[in-house]
Amino acid sequence: MDYKQLAKTYETPLYIYDFNQIKKRYLELKNSFAGRKSLVCYAVKANSNLSLLKLLANLGSGFDCVSFNEVRRAILAGADRYKIIYSGVGKQDSEIKDAINANILMINVESSAELDRIEEIAKSLDKIARISIRVNPNIDPKTHPYISTGLNENKFGVNINEAKKMYIKAKNSQFLNPIGIHFHIGSQLIDIMPVHEAAQIVSNLMRELKALEIDIKFFDIGGGVGIRYKDEKNVDLYEYAQGILSALKGQDETIVCEPGRFIVGESGVLLTKVLYEKVNNDKRFVVVDGAMNDLLRPSLYGAYHEIEALADGLNLSKCDIVGPICESGDFLGKDRDMPELKSGDLLVVKCAGAYGFGMASNYNSRCKAAEVAIEDGKARLIRKREKFEDLVANEIEFIGE
Ligand SMILES: *Cc1c(COP(=O)(O)O)cnc(C)c1O
Repeated sequence: MDYKQLAKTYETPLYIYDFNQIKKRYLELKNSFAGRKSLVCYAVKANSNLSLLKLLANLGSGFDCVSFNEVRRAILAGADRYKIIYSGVGKQDSEIKDAINANILMINVESSAELDRIEEIAKSLDKIARISIRVNPNIDPKTHPYISTGLNENKFGVNINEAKKMYIKAKNSQFLNPIGIHFHIGSQLIDIMPVHEAAQIVSNLMRELKALEIDIKFFDIGGGVGIRYKDEKNVDLYEYAQGILSALKGQDETIVCEPGRFIVGESGVLLTKVLYEKVNNDKRFVVVDGAMNDLLRPSLYGAYHEIEALADGLNLSKCDIVGPICESGDFLGKDRDMPELKSGDLLVVKCAGAYGFGMASNYNSRCKAAEVAIEDGKARLIRKREKFEDLVANEIEFIGE
C-alpha cells in the first residue's frame, strides 16, 4: 500500500481499511459453521462506518447493535431487518419502541426489569416483541478486566436461575416471544476454551427451556474472538466452531455469532505523521499528529499496537510515541525502537480497524480523522475529515452570527 501517496491525498491522521481483508475474514468465519444454520451478526460498535457496514450487508451479514442508532446505521447500510439484533445493558424506552416497530430479529434482554419494560411497551404498541435473554454463565474469559463481561461481578446479563424465571414469564406473556438465548463473555479472547465452557452451560439451559416448551430458535454465542496485536496466537476457527457444535450435543438451533474485532481489527491502520522529536532528561519522545482522541485503546487499556516507521533512518533507539493532547496518558506506544525520525515521516499504527475510529472523540477540539477504504487496489474516501465548523455546529447560540 502506498501510504505516502495516501497521506498526500487525504492528509493525516488517517484511518485506512483493507476491505478485501474484511470480506475474507467474514467469509472465513461464516464458512467455519458451514453445514449448519448460522448467522454472523457483525458487532457494529467495533467500527460503524456505513461503507464498511454496506460491504458486510452485501455479503449477507447480520448486525449486532448496542443502541438504536446503530440499528439505524445497519438499516441505512442495507441490512436485512430480520438479521439485526439489538443488545445493550441500558436501553431507553424510545429505543425499545423503535426497535419493536423496526421489526428486527430480536431484542437482547439484559435484566428482569428490562423484560417488564419491553412487555409494557410492546403492549402499548399492540405488538409482539421477539426477545433473547443474555445469560451470564459466570466464566472467567482470561482477558483484560475492562473487556471481560461474563462473570457474576459484571454488569452484563442475568444468572441462570433468573434467566429461567424470565423465560417462563416471557412464554406466558401475550406480548413477548422468546426466540433466542445469548451469552458474550468478553473480548480479545485468544484461549477459546472459556467460550466452549460457557456454550455448554448455556446449551444445557436451552435444553431445559425447550423441555418447558419455550421454543428457542437462536443460540447466540456472542463475539470476542481475539486477533494478533503482538505475538498472540491465532484463534483456530475450526476448533472454535467445533467446540460450539459439540456443546450443543445435537441441538440444531441456528448458531448466531457477533464478531467485531475479528472482522475488522487487523484490516485497519492509523496513519500518522511525525511532528518532531524531543528529548526530556534523556527520555526520547516522538510527537506525532495522531493522538488518544483518534485511537484511545493505548490510553484506555494500555493496549499494544505495533507501530512501523516508514523511514530508513539508522540508529534505532527507544522512545515513546505521543500525541499533542494535554494528558500524560496521551500515547500511542511506549518504549519502542525507532530510527531517527524527522518532521513529516510517517508512522503506521497497526491493527487499528476495531475500536479505533469508533472510540474517537473531539477532545482538545481536535477534528476526527478521515477514513479511507482500499478495495481491489483502489482507494476511496469513506468519511471526510472533520472541520472546525463541524465541531461547533451544535452550539446554537453562536450559529449564524
Ligand atoms: C462488544 C460485543 C461484541 C463484539 O465483541 P468483539 O470482541 O469485538 O468480537 C459482541 N457482542 C456483544 C454483546 C458485545 O457487547
